[in-house]
Amino acid sequence: MTYIQRVLAQLKSRDPDEPEFHQAATEILTSLAPVLERHSEYEKAALLERFTEPERTVIFRVPWVDDRGTVHVNRGYRVQFNSAIGPYKGGLRFHPSVNLSIIKFLGLEQILKNSLTGLPIGGGEGGSDFDPKGKSDGEVMRFCQSFMTELFRHIGQDTDVPAGDIGVGGREIGYLFGQYKRIRGEHSGVLTGRGLAYGGSLVRTEATGYGLVYMVEEAMRCRGDGFSGKTTVISGAGNVAIYACEKAQALGAKVVAMYDSDGYIYDKDGIKLEVVKEIKERERGRIKAYAERVKGSEYREGCRGIWNIPCEVALPCATQNEIDEASAKALVQNGVKYVGEGANMPTTLNGIAVFQQAGAVFLPAKAANAGGVATSALEMAQSSQRMYLPFEEVDRKLKSIMVGIYRAMDGAACEYGMRGNYVAGANIAGFVKVAEAMMAQGIV
Ligand code: NDP
Repeated sequence: MTYIQRVLAQLKSRDPDEPEFHQAATEILTSLAPVLERHSEYEKAALLERFTEPERTVIFRVPWVDDRGTVHVNRGYRVQFNSAIGPYKGGLRFHPSVNLSIIKFLGLEQILKNSLTGLPIGGGEGGSDFDPKGKSDGEVMRFCQSFMTELFRHIGQDTDVPAGDIGVGGREIGYLFGQYKRIRGEHSGVLTGRGLAYGGSLVRTEATGYGLVYMVEEAMRCRGDGFSGKTTVISGAGNVAIYACEKAQALGAKVVAMYDSDGYIYDKDGIKLEVVKEIKERERGRIKAYAERVKGSEYREGCRGIWNIPCEVALPCATQNEIDEASAKALVQNGVKYVGEGANMPTTLNGIAVFQQAGAVFLPAKAANAGGVATSALEMAQSSQRMYLPFEEVDRKLKSIMVGIYRAMDGAACEYGMRGNYVAGANIAGFVKVAEAMMAQGIV
């Protein structure tokens, strides 16, 4: 058994009920084999055992009262995974599916993603099994206040800086920040994704979606190609999906389909993004309403069918494991050339293998969706300096970071003899820096 196989076997037997975490750890560790061949000292220092074990995990009770006076109890999490290169940084996810396995997989991914940005931020993730869908603003506020009443003692602008993720957007960040400020009595950069009126950064809302498209654009540019006229399918209709659509359309792509968790819309003439924004951002409604408002478009119940729509570019931007082997095969058969992961781990391991064997350009999440956290780090810098950068400047920095990440993972893949394998390239490029920092800091 190799060192990597032993570590994977150990973590599976220690925490057998964490399939998403096992999936992420397997993908990452197996691609690090050539790095470990060059660095036999890592095994002696139990580097992989330490890398896959969070520095700290906090699980807590979140009681709150709904509008009818009924008391509910949800579960809150914060996994502070790795602070070797900077304070913990990562999202908060509010979704009924949230459990420790999902939070650990997101946190592990975040370590490498944050390292890839080239900025000094460590990795973490948190959230709750609370479902903001269908709740009133008052209920969401009371939940957020209760959540922060425990979380505040574990976070801080130099310790751990959470941000949004699924179910946590501007409204939730506002309520969480308000409660932190009230308890601590300080106005600091403890959360990113804040509103512009109270310390947020321009471009943060657009950053993950825009960044994803900037990276796909760079991959295309390196192949003498571009977005212009390319039929594109985007899953999700949330923050990442909407701004990926906006930037892809600005570069000339024809986006024909999007979905929310109930079903998908198909518009052969190209999605009218203003209508999607009206439904999802302003009304907090269901994507189904699009087909009622836009003539010639269709709505279909269920999500999987979206991957049967022929397209050259696929941007999964909703959630983990949206593209399985069968969906990947359907995409390949229909001629997909570029797959850029906006969501975290949206493609199963078998699905990734299908894309790679078919020679499609596959850009993995930890690189392709790093634009959000990169802009969050720029928000942290602006907070510390008590100043704001203009939109164009943040956007320019975002684009240059995404191009830099593409080059870093491309370079690492080439250096280790796996040209074009960006999964391995991103894992290696992100890991090398974290490993070096961990080795320098001793056995901690
Ligand atoms: P949002 O909550 O804004 O949107 C999520 C979208 O995906 C919604 O349209 C939602 O549908 C849909 N969705 C969620 N779960 C499922 C499911 N099980 N099946 C089908 N559709 C689903 O989240 P974000 O856009 O912020 O995040 C999307 C992904 O991007 C996540 O994987 C997140 O971790 C990742 N990400 C986000 C970043 C950010 O800056 N926001 C940064 C990096 C990664 P519905 O409307 O019905 O709820």
